[in-house]
Amino acid sequence: MRFENQVAVVTGSGRGIGHAIAVRLADEGAKVAVVSRNVANAAKTADEINAKIPGGAKAYAVDVADRATVVALCEQILADFGRVDILVNNAGITRDGLSMRMSEGDWDLVIDTNLKGAFNFIQALQRPMIKQRSGRIINISSVSGIIGNAGQANYSASKAGLIGLTKALARELASRNITVNSVAPGFIATDMTNVLGDQVKDAVVKQIPLGKFGEPNDIAAAVVFLASAEAKYITGQCLAVDGGMAM
Ligand code: NDP
Repeated sequence: MRFENQVAVVTGSGRGIGHAIAVRLADEGAKVAVVSRNVANAAKTADEINAKIPGGAKAYAVDVADRATVVALCEQILADFGRVDILVNNAGITRDGLSMRMSEGDWDLVIDTNLKGAFNFIQALQRPMIKQRSGRIINISSVSGIIGNAGQANYSASKAGLIGLTKALARELASRNITVNSVAPGFIATDMTNVLGDQVKDAVVKQIPLGKFGEPNDIAAAVVFLASAEAKYITGQCLAVDGGMAM
């Protein structure tokens, strides 16, 4: 029970990796604000947690890119739970295509969701963390943000941006006992990667030293470690959880 009496906000926790992170934090005692774009998905994760741990979670729906709504939502979360100890910026999307043909809309949507969305939550929640002189912020980046990926100029830029954002914030917030780290998943079996064709999947697996896709729980385990007291002397880092892809 490493997170007893702590409150966590996990964006994009209606499905996939975020779902695994929310469940894992709740299993270890955290109360979890389950944030997703789609209210039904958020409710599903919150219901699953509450069935095991009554009062363990509450569902919220928001578009993370919509700054004003995020600010209002964070005020609501603080009113509902009284504090926030852990923020996991996990919500993310892809809109793949070669850069030559990428529309401005697809560029903006990915940057606004993946990068600005994280900044929106950080700005809204860092003040209470500063006041309580403690906090953990974990941003979910990607192997594409470290080594790049053809067809993902927008996504790779957003994920590399998260690594830079993490480092700048780690320096800004260190004196307030707030650590800021990122986790860079490789290819993880979720809805996001299920859309890839079998040929693409086979080609990807050949690039993974451990020879297989990861599972959402592989990422959740790393996030939970970085959120825990054991990681108190780790800040500004990017932990790749990718089967060795980006070593
Ligand atoms: P999924 O597509 O399975 O789930 C994405 C989640 O993000 C959903 O809960 C979705 O909400 C939410 N979301 C998307 N856009 C918004 C938005 N604008 N506002 C609020 N919530 C939003 O993705 P994964 O679980 O695979 O990915 C999670 C994170 O991990 C992402 O940041 C992704 O980039 C990153 N990642 C994933 C990898 C992989 O291989 N799967 C590899 C590297 C990084 P809803 O359910 O309501 O639609």
